[in-house]
Amino acid sequence: MSDHIRLHIPGPVEVSAGTYEAMAAPMIGHRSKDFVALHNDVHPRLQKMMGTTQPVFLSTSSAWGVMEGTIRNLVAKKALCCCSGAFSDKWVDVARRCGKDAEALQYEWGTPINPADIDTKLATGEFDVVTFIHNETSTGVLNPLEEVAAVVNKYDDVLLVTDTVSSFSVIPIEFDQLGVDVLLTGSQKALALPPGLGIFAVSEAAFDRAATIKDRGYYFDFHEFKKNQEKSMTPSTPCISTIYGLRHQLDVIFEEGLENRYARHEKLNNLVAEWVVANGFEFFAPEGFRSKSLTAVKNNKGIDVAKLGQIMREDHKKQVDGGYGKIKGKTFRLSNMGNETEESIAGLLAALDDSLAKL
Ligand SMILES: *Cc1c(COP(=O)(O)O)cnc(C)c1O
Repeated sequence: MSDHIRLHIPGPVEVSAGTYEAMAAPMIGHRSKDFVALHNDVHPRLQKMMGTTQPVFLSTSSAWGVMEGTIRNLVAKKALCCCSGAFSDKWVDVARRCGKDAEALQYEWGTPINPADIDTKLATGEFDVVTFIHNETSTGVLNPLEEVAAVVNKYDDVLLVTDTVSSFSVIPIEFDQLGVDVLLTGSQKALALPPGLGIFAVSEAAFDRAATIKDRGYYFDFHEFKKNQEKSMTPSTPCISTIYGLRHQLDVIFEEGLENRYARHEKLNNLVAEWVVANGFEFFAPEGFRSKSLTAVKNNKGIDVAKLGQIMREDHKKQVDGGYGKIKGKTFRLSNMGNETEESIAGLLAALDDSLAKL
């Protein structure tokens, strides 16, 4: 473990030795009392973190499974997909591949979503679902969830789907209070678990919509999840080891305290931001819309980002991200998600200083 390459990419992130240890617990039957106890241990804590009294579901899939399932469960008329980066752009494609009508509300990568544009689109009456990414991991932009939710909530027949894959447990998110209809996240980002588990909550309005939709399929059918959740179970055999890991991480999270966790992320994110400014770099995201879980650094100095990554790996055994898709090399990304500490971030920044000097 000590000699491995430490991940500072925005997912998957470092998994603690304690989590790996917890995951090595003996297997149990997924219809057993032991599983019910495991489920009932994690479930109320997930509800608390999501700010909801609705059921929270455990899906054995990556986040995209839940994202695709959401489209299948909810879209009858047409989805409006808010697009401003790699993950949000892909929603339109995914919706169409599911045979649904979908339209992109397209922004330049790095531009935050403007709620007023959503309002204009929804006023046409064409749409029944809005897909929205809270924290666009590819660009480091934190979109205005509260304002977007307020706009979508003006339209009774439009459901708001929110991807919080890289913001859940980093900043407070209140599902019930915001009036979100589906909130989803994945295990390998801010929760610092291995990949493989999707976690999501569904509103009553979304259950009602799903009930009217014929081709929901089976694996991601919201009503299958609901029926099973009422018995503290999942529709099919879940990734029990990852759920052991989740239980451990929830112990860690609640021991630290949610408020302290949010404050720690803010503080670590600020340390990275100070480094960016001190080294003459700029941010890819505009001021006021910067992610708290990662930093997308704009390569305004024209450094060799691939080389930087190589030196970081070879000399410091740390992996940073060299930019996503079409902004590869024009940006690089530094994550402060999960279990990072002031010490680990100081180590990252010192390694970056050394690597920059060697370019
Ligand atoms: C990583 C990520 C996804 C995709 O998650 P998978 O686990 O690869 O399916 C979706 N949305 C956001 C915002 C992400 O950061």
